[in-house]
Amino acid sequence: MKQGLNTGETMADQGYQYDVVVIGSGPGGYVAAIRATQLGLKTAIVERENLGGICLNWGCIPTKALIHNAEILHTLKEADEYGFTFDNLKVDFGKAVKRSRDVVGRQTKGVAFLMKKNKIEVIEGNAAFVDAHSIKVTPSEYHPEAKEQTVTAAHFIIATGARARSLPGTQIDGERIIQYRDALVLKEVPKKLIVVGSGAIGMEFSYVYSTYGAEVTIIEMLDQILPLEDADVAAEVAKGLHEARGQDYDEHSHRKG
Ligand SMILES: Cc1cc2nc3c(=O)[nH]c(=O)nc-3n(C[C@H](O)[C@H](O)[C@H](O)COP(=O)(O)OP(=O)(O)OC[C@H]3O[C@@H](n4cnc5c(N)ncnc54)[C@H](O)[C@@H]3O)c2cc1C
Repeated sequence: MKQGLNTGETMADQGYQYDVVVIGSGPGGYVAAIRATQLGLKTAIVERENLGGICLNWGCIPTKALIHNAEILHTLKEADEYGFTFDNLKVDFGKAVKRSRDVVGRQTKGVAFLMKKNKIEVIEGNAAFVDAHSIKVTPSEYHPEAKEQTVTAAHFIIATGARARSLPGTQIDGERIIQYRDALVLKEVPKKLIVVGSGAIGMEFSYVYSTYGAEVTIIEMLDQILPLEDADVAAEVAKGLHEARGQDYDEHSHRKG
């Protein structure tokens, strides 16, 4: 009979449905769930959106797919240098977005496969704690058909990730002022784009959209772009920005916050 994580009691003694329930299936959650099941614990994972969390659905993966498209376009624009000439380069941004969503679909299916292979039950819906050993799962926007149920466990792992923060006094309307999810599925390339914040995510979107022809202005209140990176790395990227067509980076316009 299985033991609780550190209580010495068995799951059956305690009368819970699971040894471990993980809330959130991003890289934090699904890896923890796999580890729990490898340790012999009866495990379930609750997800209110899609398996894989922000990283697979709205973060690391789709941005890299778009960046790969931008890199190809970048090379095509310099094709002459490589000895290729063509008269009629047609650029379809919609297809780049579709490709990135297809890549996401494949990756989330991969997580579903891992859950099945490791016998981890996936429970769709929004989890909210009822008490220390039970959660209520209710239908969510992504899973309106989800069954409302109470799920009990000896242990819970909360892996619900982070939320995007808005600027004070600014309403993200999804059209004129957008956040990362909108930026991953735009129907067309905006003529002009202001990117607030020059961390890795801001720089990635700047690169993609400027390569696709948007006039991009990056606003950063700290002393260097990529403020979390080493100064020499940031300086190289800043140099690249100066050279890149359409990206406007003016070190002297910093506003100290
Ligand atoms: C645009 C962008 C690009 C990024 N690029 C990179 C990169 O290249 N490399 C990198 O290392 N990191 C990158 N990140 C950061 C990365 O996505 C996060 O660090 C990572 O997703 C965090 O994983 P997590 O498991 O903690 O949470 P998340 O991936 O956020 O997963 C949390 C999950 O919990 C679910 N959830 C939340 N509350 C509940 C609830 N009450 N009930 C049920 N489910 C719930 C959510 O729906 C979500 O699926 C990027 C982020 C963004 C936004």
